[in-house]
Amino acid sequence: MQQPSQPRRQAGLRAPGVPAVPWHALLPEAVLERLSATEQGLTGEAARERLARHGPNALERSRPVSAWKLLWRQLDSPLIWVLIASAGLAILLGKVTDGLVVAAVVVLNTLIGFVQEYRAGRAIEALNYMVAETAHVLRDGHLVARPSAELVPGDVVQLASGDRVPADLRLLRSHNLQVEEAALTGESVPASKHVAAVAADAELGDRASLAFGGTLVTSGTATAVVVATGGATELGRISHLMEQTADLSTPLTLELARMGRVISAGIVALSAVLLGVGMLRGYTFSDAVLVAITLAVAAIPEGLPAIVTIALAIGVQRMALRRAVIRKLPAVETLGSTTVICTDKTGTLTRNEMTVQALWTWRGHYALTGVGHTPTGRLLRAGHPVDELPGDVHALLLAGVLCNEADLQPHEEGRWGMTGDPTEGALLFAAKKVGLGVTDLRERHPRLDAIPFESEHQFMATLHAGGQARGEFFSSERFVSELFLKGAPEVVLRRCGPDTDRGAVLAEVERMARQGLRVLAFARKDLLRKGGLLPQDVEEGFTLLGLQGMIDPPREEALASVKDCHAAGIRVKMMTGDHLATAEAIGLRLGIHSPGQPGLTGARLSGMSDAELAVAVKETNVFARLAPEHKLRLVRALQAQRHVVAMTGDGVNDAPALKQADIGVAMGVTGTAVAREAADLVLTDDNFATIVAAVEEGRRVYDNLVKSLAFVLPTNLGLALILMLGVTFFPLQEAGGVREPLLAMRPTQLLWINLVATVTLALPLAFEARERHVMRRPPRAPDTPVLNHFVVMRTGLVAVLMAAGAIGLFLWEFARQGGDHDASNTRALAEARTMAVNTVVSFQIFYLWLCRTLTGSTREVGVASNPTVFPGIAALVLLQAAFMYVPFLQRLFGSAPLSPGAIARSVLAGACVLPVVGLEKWLRSRKREGQGRSVGAT
Ligand code: ADP
Ligand code: MG
Repeated sequence: MQQPSQPRRQAGLRAPGVPAVPWHALLPEAVLERLSATEQGLTGEAARERLARHGPNALERSRPVSAWKLLWRQLDSPLIWVLIASAGLAILLGKVTDGLVVAAVVVLNTLIGFVQEYRAGRAIEALNYMVAETAHVLRDGHLVARPSAELVPGDVVQLASGDRVPADLRLLRSHNLQVEEAALTGESVPASKHVAAVAADAELGDRASLAFGGTLVTSGTATAVVVATGGATELGRISHLMEQTADLSTPLTLELARMGRVISAGIVALSAVLLGVGMLRGYTFSDAVLVAITLAVAAIPEGLPAIVTIALAIGVQRMALRRAVIRKLPAVETLGSTTVICTDKTGTLTRNEMTVQALWTWRGHYALTGVGHTPTGRLLRAGHPVDELPGDVHALLLAGVLCNEADLQPHEEGRWGMTGDPTEGALLFAAKKVGLGVTDLRERHPRLDAIPFESEHQFMATLHAGGQARGEFFSSERFVSELFLKGAPEVVLRRCGPDTDRGAVLAEVERMARQGLRVLAFARKDLLRKGGLLPQDVEEGFTLLGLQGMIDPPREEALASVKDCHAAGIRVKMMTGDHLATAEAIGLRLGIHSPGQPGLTGARLSGMSDAELAVAVKETNVFARLAPEHKLRLVRALQAQRHVVAMTGDGVNDAPALKQADIGVAMGVTGTAVAREAADLVLTDDNFATIVAAVEEGRRVYDNLVKSLAFVLPTNLGLALILMLGVTFFPLQEAGGVREPLLAMRPTQLLWINLVATVTLALPLAFEARERHVMRRPPRAPDTPVLNHFVVMRTGLVAVLMAAGAIGLFLWEFARQGGDHDASNTRALAEARTMAVNTVVSFQIFYLWLCRTLTGSTREVGVASNPTVFPGIAALVLLQAAFMYVPFLQRLFGSAPLSPGAIARSVLAGACVLPVVGLEKWLRSRKREGQGRSVGAT
C-alpha cells in the first residue's frame, strides 16, 4: 500500500532531468502528474510551448558509413589489386612514367567510384525519411493525426495494431497490447504490455508498462502518455552506437563482381602469355613486362562498378519521383523482371472515396444520393424522397456512426474533411445526409470499450453506455450497455440470433455486391452487465439492423495501367478481403476479370490441395475474402511456377506475404508501419499505377546497364586487341639508340583512352531515357546473365572494328609520313600513334550514339532525351585536344599535334562504326520481327 504513494511524493521532489523513480515503476496518475499532463491530452498551446523546449521528436540521422570504409570498398576488388601491383612493378622496373599513369588510373577510378557511391548512398538513405510517420494524438480534447516529429512529453496518444510507437510511452489504458521490440532489444517475439507498474530495476525488455519509440504494435490498442521524445528515448540513446550500412549490393552487382573476377583472372593469364610472346620476339624484360601490365590495365573494365551503382541509384531516385519509394535496393532490378502483380482492390485499384449509396433494412430498400465528401444528399425510397427519417434507417445509421473510428472536420464551403478509414468515413457522411449529428450522437452514447477492425476478422465491435434502457426498466444497480457490431455480412450474420432470415440477407448482399458495391452489415445487442468487452460477448445473440452498400469508383489510371501490364507480359491478379461479387464487378470494369473465369474465395482456397492451387493460381485473376495466410500461400504457389511476384499488403498480418514476395509493396498512406517495414517498395500514393511505373523504371535501369556494358566492354577488348596484335606481329624499332616495340599505341596512350573515355562517355548512359517499347515486351527471365548473347556478340564485333580502324590508320599515317623508310623517324611514329588514339576516341563518340538505344535508332529515342551525353562528349573533345596540343601531355603520353586533314581522317574512320553497327541493329530487329510473326501465327 505504501508503494503507490511513495513515487508520487518523490516525483514532486525530483531533481530536474533525473527522475528518482523510473517511469515504468510509477502509477499512471503519478506519471501524468510528473508530466503536468492529463488524460485528455495537452492543449495546442502547451504542446507548442513544449515543442520549443524539447525540440522535435526525431532521432538524429544515424551516422552514415564512414568515408574511409567507403573508400576501402572501392579499393577492395581484385581488379584494383591487379592495377596497383602493376603500377608498383612498372616503377620498380624503371618505367616510372608508365607506372605513374597506371597509378593515376587507380586513383581517379577510386575517386569517381567513391564520389558516386557516396552520393548514391545518400540518395538511398534519404528515402527512409520520405514516408512520413504520423501519430494519433489528443490535442485540445480532439483526436488528430499529427506528424510524429511534433510529439512532446505529456502528449496523450493512441496506438493501434500496425502502428510504429512514435516515442517512449507510459501506458494509461491498454487492450491486449503486443509490441515487437526487435528494433530495440533484438527480440522478435512480441512482448505483452499492460498498465500495471513494474519493479524499478526491471530490464528494458521487462518494462511492460512502457512502449518504446521505434517498436511496432503487432496487436491490440492502447492509450498512452509520451514520457520521452527524440534523442531522450531509449532508441535515441542507443542509436548513436549504430552505424547505418547502406548496403549497395544487389544480385546484379554481385553477378557483375563475379564476372569481374572471371574477366580479371582471364586477363592476368593472357598477360602472362603476352609476356612470353614479347620475350620470344626479343623485347627487353622490362618492355615485355610493361606490355603485359598495359594489357591488364587496358582490358580490365575498371569503371563498371561505379556505373552499376549509379544506374541503380538513378533508378531509385526516379522511382521516388514517381511516388514509389524503394526500401531495399535489389528491388530496383527485380522490379524489371516482375511477371505477376498481385494487388489489393480498395484504394489501390479504386479511389478509396467511398460513398454509401444503398441501404437495406428488414423494412426494405433505400437509396442515398450525392457523392464525395459533402453531406448533401437525400434519402430515397422507391425513387421518392423520404422526409421523415424512419426508425429502422435511424438505427442502422446510428450503428454506423458509433461503431466507427473515423471523424469529420468542417472545411470551407460545405466541404468536409475526413480522418480515418474511408469505409468508416462514408458511414459518417451517410448519417449527416439525413441530418444526424455525429458528435451529438457520440456524446449521447459514450463509448465504453471496443474491439478494433482487423482484416483477418472482418468485423469491429463497440460498447456504449446504455441507451433507452437506462434507469427506466432496470433498478439502478443493474447496468445496461449497448453493443454494436459491423463488418462483412457473413461474419455479422454468423453472430445473429437463430431466427434471422439469413437467406434473405445474403440474397440482398449478393445483389448489392454484383453492382460493385462494398457491403457492410450492422447488428446490435444489449449487454446486461458492467465492465469491458469479453471475447464471448461478440460471439452470438445479435440482432441484424441492416446493410449499407457503398461505391468506390475505380481509378481511371488503373484501367490504363492494367492494359500496360498486359502489353508488357505481366499478369495482374486482384487479391482482396472484400466480397467476391464486389471484387468481380470491379475486376470486370478494369479488365482484370473475365466473366468466363470465375473468381475464388479464401474459403475455397483453404480446401484446395497444392496441385489444385497450382491450376487455380494460373487461371484465376480475382481472389476475394482473403485472409493474410491465403496471400502467403498464393505467393508461394506463383513462385513455384517461376513467377517473379510483386504483392501488395497493408495490414500487420500481411508482413509474411510481403516478405515472401519478390517485391513486397506497402501502402504509404493507409498501410501500417509493420507492412512498410516488411516491404521492398512503398507507394506514397497507394496507387496501382505507381507499381506499374516502378516496373517500367526497373526495366529502364536494367536496359541502361546493358547499354553501359555494350559500350564499355568493346573498348576494353578493342584496346587489348590493338596491343596483342602489335606485340605479336609488329617489328621492333630502333629510336635514339633504344630498341622500342613498334606498337600502334604506347601503353600510356591505351591507359589514357581507358581512363578518359569510360568516365566521360559511359557514365551518361546510366541516365538514358527509357526505350520506346520498354512496356511492350515480355519480362526478362530473372536468370538471364547480364553478359548475354547480345552483349557478347556486340563486344566482339565492335572490338574488331575498333582495332582494325586504329591499326589501319596508324599504318597509313606512318607510311604517309615516310616512317616505314626510316624507323628512327620518331616524329612520324608519334603522329601515327596520335592518329590511332584519335581514331579510337572518335569511334567511341559515334558508338555512344548507337548505344543510347538497344534496338531502335537514336532518332527514335530523341537526340536530346538524355542531355548528360552532351557535356560528356564536350569534355572528351576538350581532353583529346589537350592530349594533342598541351606540351606537358605530349611529353607524358608521347603524343603529337595533328593537322586538320589528319584529324578529319581519324573522325571519318571513327564514323565507320555507324553503318556497321546500324546494319547489325537492322538485322537484329528483322530477326526479332520474324520471330514475333511466327510466334503470333502459331
Ligand atoms: P480490402 O481492403 O481488400 O477491400 P479489407 O480486409 O480491408 O479488404 O476488408 C475486408 C472486409 O472487411 C470488407 O469487405 C468489409 O466487409 C469488412 N470491413 C472493412 N473495413 C471495415 C471496418 N472498418 N469495420 C468493419 N468491417 C470492415
Ligand atoms: Mg482494406
